[in-house]
Amino acid sequence: MNKSYLTNQAYRLVRYFVERSVQELPEEELGRSAVVFAPHPDDETLGCGGTLIRKRKAQARVDMVFVTDGARSHDKVVSAELLRTIRKNEAISAGRVLGIEENRIMFLNFPDGQLYLRAVEAEIQVEEILQRLKPEQVFIPCFHENISDHLAVNRIVLAALENCGLCPVVYEYPVWFWNHWPWVSQSARLGCGTFRRIRVSLSANYQMNLLRRFRSSIFVGDVLDIKRRALEEYRSQMTRLIPDVPWPTLSDVGEGEFLECFFQQWELFYCYRMTPSQGEA
Ligand SMILES: [Zn+2]
Repeated sequence: MNKSYLTNQAYRLVRYFVERSVQELPEEELGRSAVVFAPHPDDETLGCGGTLIRKRKAQARVDMVFVTDGARSHDKVVSAELLRTIRKNEAISAGRVLGIEENRIMFLNFPDGQLYLRAVEAEIQVEEILQRLKPEQVFIPCFHENISDHLAVNRIVLAALENCGLCPVVYEYPVWFWNHWPWVSQSARLGCGTFRRIRVSLSANYQMNLLRRFRSSIFVGDVLDIKRRALEEYRSQMTRLIPDVPWPTLSDVGEGEFLECFFQQWELFYCYRMTPSQGEA
């Protein structure tokens, strides 16, 4: 990483705060059954891939649900139909590396970027899955991701859990949370002058507010090489499938600093148990 001096200092300070305030979840949690909801193929590997690898090593039953088809990530240069097939195959390959068999992976195929328009329909399908599998844990994207599909999945799954009266432990995982200063350099994200200073302070405030919620961590330092291999299966997101056309990759975000955030020693979660009548506890 090539962070500026200020960013580096802030990064180290926040990281110090995080490492001292989060609590590592007890080992026995890894063996519990789980359903993982990903808005797009790759969110599960980015946000909680290391945890899923450790859970599978602990023989936990893990089911994955991809809610949208991810068909709009490069739709200016590839047809949505082809992209849908590519991303589905990549998700199955990544699942294999994570240790999750193909028959435990579901694709709901809602349209990428427009899940909020089909929320009621999605909620019914999610409820049916939860009723059938009755997981002890549910993984969803965190409540404040600024990406509409991520926010929609969070709300849909929580509403479905309330409807069916199940009380699993919910693990909200961050993805686009990491695309903020100080995790990525201000130079990569923000403008200059006074405007930059205002945005830096807003960004820092936003990050600290969110960090207060992420109190649980799972150590993934010993499985990072497997997580990296799983992510590499998402070739459409990690490499330029077609040269000489605009093809953004995850490495382009924050000049590579964003991607590196997913290879820290721990994965962070906002963790709570659902209660049947009151929603989150
Ligand atoms: Zn996503």
